[in-house]
Amino acid sequence: MFGKEFQRKYALTDQGVQNIKAGTFWTVMVNLAVMGGMGILYLMMKGFAATLTEGKPLPGALMILLLVLGFLILSFLLHLRQYRSTYGIVYREVKSVRISLAERLRKLPLGYFGKRDLADLTETIMGDVNRLEHVWSHCLGYLYGSYISTAVIAVMLFACSWKLALSCLWGVPVAFLLLFGSRKSSARNSEDTKAAAVQVADGIQETIENMREIRAVNQEERFLKELNDKIDRHESRMIRTELTNGIFVNAASVIMRLGVATTILTGINMILSGEIGFMTLFMFLLVITRVYAPFDQALALISEMFLSQVSANRLMEIYDAETAEGSLSFAPESHDIVFENVYFSYDHDQVLKGVSFTAKEGEVTALVGPSGSGKSTCARLAARLWDIDSGTIKVGGVNIAEVDPETLMTDYSMVFQDVVLFDDTVMENIRLGRHGAADEEVRAAARAANCDEFVDKLPQGYHTPIGENGARLSGGERQRISIARALLKDAPIVLLDEATASLDVENETKVQGALSRLLSGKTVLVIAHRMRTVEAADKIVVLDDGRVAEEGSPEELLAKENGIFKHMTQLQNASAGWSI
Ligand code: ADP
Repeated sequence: MFGKEFQRKYALTDQGVQNIKAGTFWTVMVNLAVMGGMGILYLMMKGFAATLTEGKPLPGALMILLLVLGFLILSFLLHLRQYRSTYGIVYREVKSVRISLAERLRKLPLGYFGKRDLADLTETIMGDVNRLEHVWSHCLGYLYGSYISTAVIAVMLFACSWKLALSCLWGVPVAFLLLFGSRKSSARNSEDTKAAAVQVADGIQETIENMREIRAVNQEERFLKELNDKIDRHESRMIRTELTNGIFVNAASVIMRLGVATTILTGINMILSGEIGFMTLFMFLLVITRVYAPFDQALALISEMFLSQVSANRLMEIYDAETAEGSLSFAPESHDIVFENVYFSYDHDQVLKGVSFTAKEGEVTALVGPSGSGKSTCARLAARLWDIDSGTIKVGGVNIAEVDPETLMTDYSMVFQDVVLFDDTVMENIRLGRHGAADEEVRAAARAANCDEFVDKLPQGYHTPIGENGARLSGGERQRISIARALLKDAPIVLLDEATASLDVENETKVQGALSRLLSGKTVLVIAHRMRTVEAADKIVVLDDGRVAEEGSPEELLAKENGIFKHMTQLQNASAGWSI
C-alpha cells in the first residue's frame, strides 16, 4: 500500500512515507478506541435493560466510573499520538521537502531555468508544497487509517448480522465510487485553476518589474486591465473547481448517511420477524453514529487529495529533471580553454555549429561577431552553465562536462552585463566574490576596482544598503562592484561581457582601469563590443551564425582582404567618425 508508487504519487520523502504509516496506524487505533467506547455504552445499556426487564441488580457505579475514566484517558492518549504523527511531524516534512527542492535546483543546469517560468517554480516550492502539506497532514493518514478501521469494524458487524451490516455500510463504497468517478473532471479543473494562478503571478511580476517602462509609455490602464482580466479568470476557475468538488463531496456524504435510514428500516423488520433482539439494533445504531465520522474529514479533503496530484506531478518534475553532476575535484594542468567541434542548441535551433578555438592562459581572447552569432553562448558554455550537445570543452586538458559545476565555478570569475546585486550593503555585495573574505580584503578589491570614489560619497560608505538589485547605483558603479567581486575572487579564468559602450567617458576609463588589474595573467574570454578592447586582445575569434569565421591576432585579421573582422572595424570606425 505504501510502496514506491505511493511515494511518487504524493511526492513524499522516505521519512514522509514513514510518517504516513505512523499516522495511519494511530488513526486505526483512535477509530477502534472510539468503537470501544461505543462498546462500553452498549454494555451499560444492556445492564440497565436487564435491570428493567429481568429485575437483575444495577451494574456497580464504581465499575462504570472506572470504565469511562479508563476509556477517556486511553482515548486522550491515542488522539495525542495521532495528532503528533499526522500534523506534528508533517511540518518537519514540509521543511525537508523545501530544502531538498532547493538543493535539487542548485544542481540543475541553468538551461532548466530558461525553459521554466520562474513564477511557476516559486509557485511549486511555496504553493504546491503547501497544498501537499495539507494532504500529508490532514488526509492520507486519516483516510488510510479509516479504510483499515472500517474494514475491521465491518468484519465485526458482518459477524453479528450480515443483513444489518450491509444496510449500514452499503453507502461507503458507493460514496467513494462517486468521488473516484469525479476525479478526472476535478483534475482538469485543478490544472486550469493552476494555470490561471501562474498567469496572475506572472502578470503581477511583469507589471511591477516593468512599471517604469509602462509609465513612460502611458500604458498603465491597459496593463492593469490585462491584470484584472487574469485575476477575474483565476477567480472564476477557482469558483468552478470549488463548486464542482463541493457538489460531489456533499453528495457522497449524503449517500453514506442514507445507511442510517436503511439500517433502521432493516432493523425494525428483523425485530418484527424475530430475527434479532432490540439490543442488536441498538448496537448497530450506536456504531452507525461513529462509523461515518472518520470518513467525514477525509471526504472533505479527498477532492484536495485528487487535486494534489497536479502539485505532486509538478514537484516530481523537478526531482526528475536531469542534474549537472560531476567530479568534485578539479585540478587542470593549465587554464587554457579549448573548444573542440562544439555543437549546442537551447531548444531546437542550433546556436553553435561546430565551434573550435583555444583561449590561452595569460592571454585575452576576444569573441566578436554580429549580434546573435553565439558569443555570449560560448562564454556561458565555457563555464558549464549549460551542457553542450556534442564536441568537448576542455580546461587544461580536463573535460568540463565531467566536473561538478559548483567545483568548476571556483576557478571562474564572471563579469557579465546584467550584474546581479542583492539588497544588502556594498561591503556584502562585494564579499560575495569570496565567502569569508576579511573587510580589509574587500576594501582592497574595491579600491582596485575604482569603487572607492563613489562608495565614499554614499551616506554610510561601505555599509550603505544599495536597494533591490542595486537600484541606487549607476550602470558604471554596478559594473565596478561586479569587477571588485571578481578581483576578490581572483579566479584564474575570467569571462567578461564587456558593456562599457553604454558608459560615459569618465566611468569608462575607470572601469577599464579596474579591468586591466583584474585581467592580468588570467585566461580571459571577453565578449568584445569596443574596438579598443579588440585591438588590445591577443587573439580574436570571429563568430558568424554559430561558426568560427576567422581567428587570429588583430593584425593578422586586419590584413585579410574581405575579412569580416576588417569589415566590422571599418564600419565601427566610420560610425565613430560620423558621431563626432
Ligand atoms: P551574441 O552574444 O553573439 O549576441 P547569443 O549567444 O546571445 O549571441 O545568442 C545566440 C543565439 O541563441 C541567438 O539566436 C539567441 O536568440 C539564442 N539564445 C540566446 N540565449 C538563449 C536562451 N537562453 N534561450 C534560447 N535561445 C537563446
